[in-house]
Amino acid sequence: MTGTGMTGTGGSPRRGDAADRMVSSLADADDRIVEGALRPRRLHELIGQGRVREQLSLVLEGALQRGRVPDHVLLSGPPGLGKTTLAMIIAAELGTPMRITSGPAIERAGDLAAILSTLAEGEVVFIDEIHRVARPAEEMLYLAMEDFRVDVVIGKGPGATAIPLDIAPFTLVGATTRAGLLPAALRDRFGFTAHLDFYEPEELGVIVRRSAGLLGVALRDDGADEIAGRSRGTPRIANRLLRRVRDFAEVRGDGVITREIARAALELYEVDESGLDRLDYAVLTALVRKFGGGPVGLSTLAVAVGEEAETVEVVAEPFLVRAGLMARTPRGRVATPAAWAHLGLAVPQDAAFARLAPGDSGAGWRPAGGPDGPGRDGEVTLFD
Ligand code: ADP
Repeated sequence: MTGTGMTGTGGSPRRGDAADRMVSSLADADDRIVEGALRPRRLHELIGQGRVREQLSLVLEGALQRGRVPDHVLLSGPPGLGKTTLAMIIAAELGTPMRITSGPAIERAGDLAAILSTLAEGEVVFIDEIHRVARPAEEMLYLAMEDFRVDVVIGKGPGATAIPLDIAPFTLVGATTRAGLLPAALRDRFGFTAHLDFYEPEELGVIVRRSAGLLGVALRDDGADEIAGRSRGTPRIANRLLRRVRDFAEVRGDGVITREIARAALELYEVDESGLDRLDYAVLTALVRKFGGGPVGLSTLAVAVGEEAETVEVVAEPFLVRAGLMARTPRGRVATPAAWAHLGLAVPQDAAFARLAPGDSGAGWRPAGGPDGPGRDGEVTLFD
């Protein structure tokens, strides 16, 4: 990154205890320091997200060839999948500085005007958690994105006048963990929208090996595979587990990360073979034991596990859905047969999916995105 950071970017929803979890996808202070060193800097260094990478490279190259600023870019997806990294890569590929801010930091239109009115031509502005930008600033953003203009209001009350001010053409990169909360008017102003999906274990294996190389950690292939398989499809978690396993290898072993070392370390840190941790277990257990498998509303479920609804929705739920343990239906959250199996329990006859899909043991579930996997946001339709 070549630019100045205006405000710190959290890249996350509200942090509670969830941020302290071993496999939380939210960044803690420790992560943020190390992540700077581990971030891929250019598009060709980015691992995984093949389609997004290719599409984005066309958008950027096309703009460079035309000598114009590229379309505004919206990146959505759960925390820790590489939204900030991609924003930085966009600026690096364009060879321009980047300003970083976040939705919660933009409380008034003036906060945004201060950034936009001082831009140099072609700069990239990154707004993390863009769904949390305050309403008046959001309206200013519309005009800025479309016409490269802001209206600065001078004075108050009936005498107030709006003075139009031209601003330098820029590219807005917005990131959000909750694309569904973005007003359509804002979403429509992005020329390119990409949804980042969870990574495959093989891709995470490559990421872990690359990070081990950068950190000077001795990592055997089977050790890398073990860490990758327990990283909840999330690069941030893969990098964090690597650091914890390294500690274990150095203190309890000879410093080399093997499968045995990785297993022993991750068992100690209570990360199971699928990457599920305490919050995931709490959510699944509540869903299965307290609510008989659902359907149950998100906020009720969140209260049952003592977490913010947003944390459950943004941090735990997407992966549980992806892992096929939980489904989102119009009537609420439900456990799938695999959830009972994962908790070592027998599936009761009157469980929600059994009631709603009589006669079959969950085979009636169809992810909205097609039969091969969950839909974009893990939305699931239930055929009953
Ligand atoms: P987000 O903004 O989506 O929360 P970040 O961009 O901050 O996620 O990514 C978290 C960390 O994960 C980065 O510091 C980087 O080290 C790593 N990372 C993310 N995506 C990739 C990737 N595709 N390849 C390699 N490392 C990645």
